[in-house]
Amino acid sequence: MAERFDVVVVGGGPAGATAATDLARAGVHVLLLDRAGRVKPCGGAIPPKAIEDFDIPPHMLVARATSARMVAPSSRTVDMPVGDGFVGMVDREHYDEWLRARAALAGAERRTGGFERIVREDVRTFVEYRVGRGGPQARVETKLVIGADGARSAVACAEIAGADRMPCVFAYHEIIETPANDFDGSRCDVWYQGHVSPDFYGWVFPHGETTSVGVGSANKGFALRNAVGALRAASGLTDAETVRGEGAPIPLKPLDRWDNGRDVVVVGDAAGVVAPASGEGIFYAMTSGRMAADVAVRFLATGDARLLRQVRKQFMAAHGRVFWVLRMMQYFWYSSDKRRERFVHMCADKDVQALTWQAYMHKKLVKARPAAHARIFFKDMGHLIASAVR
Ligand SMILES: Cc1cc2nc3c(=O)[nH]c(=O)nc-3n(C[C@H](O)[C@H](O)[C@H](O)COP(=O)(O)OP(=O)(O)OC[C@H]3O[C@@H](n4cnc5c(N)ncnc54)[C@H](O)[C@@H]3O)c2cc1C
Repeated sequence: MAERFDVVVVGGGPAGATAATDLARAGVHVLLLDRAGRVKPCGGAIPPKAIEDFDIPPHMLVARATSARMVAPSSRTVDMPVGDGFVGMVDREHYDEWLRARAALAGAERRTGGFERIVREDVRTFVEYRVGRGGPQARVETKLVIGADGARSAVACAEIAGADRMPCVFAYHEIIETPANDFDGSRCDVWYQGHVSPDFYGWVFPHGETTSVGVGSANKGFALRNAVGALRAASGLTDAETVRGEGAPIPLKPLDRWDNGRDVVVVGDAAGVVAPASGEGIFYAMTSGRMAADVAVRFLATGDARLLRQVRKQFMAAHGRVFWVLRMMQYFWYSSDKRRERFVHMCADKDVQALTWQAYMHKKLVKARPAAHARIFFKDMGHLIASAVR
C-alpha cells in the first residue's frame, strides 16, 4: 500500500513552499517534496507587497534598498529613490529554507527527494521520487500534484502541452563579498548597455555582507560570464572575493495552460510567471502558489477538475495586464543601445519614477492620478516617436 496524501507539492521554492503552507493551514494532508542541495541563483529583491502578503519577518531581509540607479549605454546614470519604504533583499539560501520550515511547522509533511514521474493506475495517481539525493525510489498516492519545480519543470514538461518549449532568458550571477568601502549597500544598480546584455539588463544588488552581480539574455550565443566580468570591472568590483557563480533560466512568458484537466496544476517558474522586463518572480511565484492552494481546497471538496483552470485565470486577471505591458516594454526599449539610452533618460522623469515604484511596490496602479498617467502617456509617445525616427 502506497502512502496517501491529498496533495503532493513538487518543489520547495517560494511557489511550492507557499502552496504547502496554505494547504497545511487549511487542514489538507500535503507532502512538500524538494530535491534540495542547490541554492537558487537569484538577485533576491522582493517588494513590500510580498513582505505583507506572505508575512515575511524582518530578520529575513539581509538588506533594504532605498533607491535604484539606472545606467545608460553612455554611462549616464539616473537615480530613482524609492521614496517611502524600501525594496527587501533576501538571501535565497536562508529564505527558501525558512519558507520550507514554515510549511512543515504549519503541518505539511516535508521530504527531501527528486521527483521522477507521475504514474496512473486505473483512477489512482501516484508520484514516484528518489529519496534524498539519488537514494531508493519511493511512491506515494495523491489526488492532486502541484508542480512548483521551477523553470524547465519536469512536472510541467510531462503533463502540460508546450511546457517543454517555454522561452527563457538565461541568467548568470556571481555572489561576491561586499566591499567594506565605497559601496552603497542600499542601492540596486540596473545596467542597460548592449555589451552587458543585448536584450535584458545587468544588475548589482546588495545583500548585506554579499552582493549579487548578474546579467541575463535570451541570446544563446551571448557570453554571460564575460559580461558579468565587464560589469564587475565597470562597477569597481573586480577585486572583490567571489563566493560563487551560478546560472539559471528565467521564463519569459506564462504558459497557455497550467493544468492537465485532471490532477496536475503548475505554478511559479514552472508556469512561466516571471514579470517580463524586470525578471521579478518571487512575488509572482508565491502569489500563484497561494492561488493554487486555494483552488486545491475546492477541488478536493468537489472533485471537479475543471476548477484547476481557475489558478491561471485568477492569476492572469490580477497580473496579466502588467505582464503584457512589461513584455511590450522589454521588446521595444531593450532592443538597441539607442532605445536603452532613451529609456534611462525617461526614468529621470518624476512621474515615471512615482508610477514605476507604485506599480512595483504595491502591484497596482493608482487610479486616482489620471493626470500623471496622461502626462506619462504623452511623454512616452514623444520618446517612442523620437527613437523610431532616429
Ligand atoms: C539569476 C537570477 C536572478 C533573479 N533575481 C530575482 C530578483 O531579484 N527578484 C525576484 O523576484 N526574482 C528574481 N529571479 C526570479 C526568481 O528567482 C524566480 O522567479 C523564483 O525563484 C521562482 O520561484 P519558484 O518557487 O517557482 O521556483 P524555484 O525558486 O526555482 O524553486 C523550484 C524548487 O523546485 C525544486 N525542484 C526542482 N526540480 C525538482 C525535482 N525534480 N524534484 C524535487 N524538487 C525539485 C528545487 O530544488 C527548488 O527548490 C531571478 C532569477 C534568476 C535566475
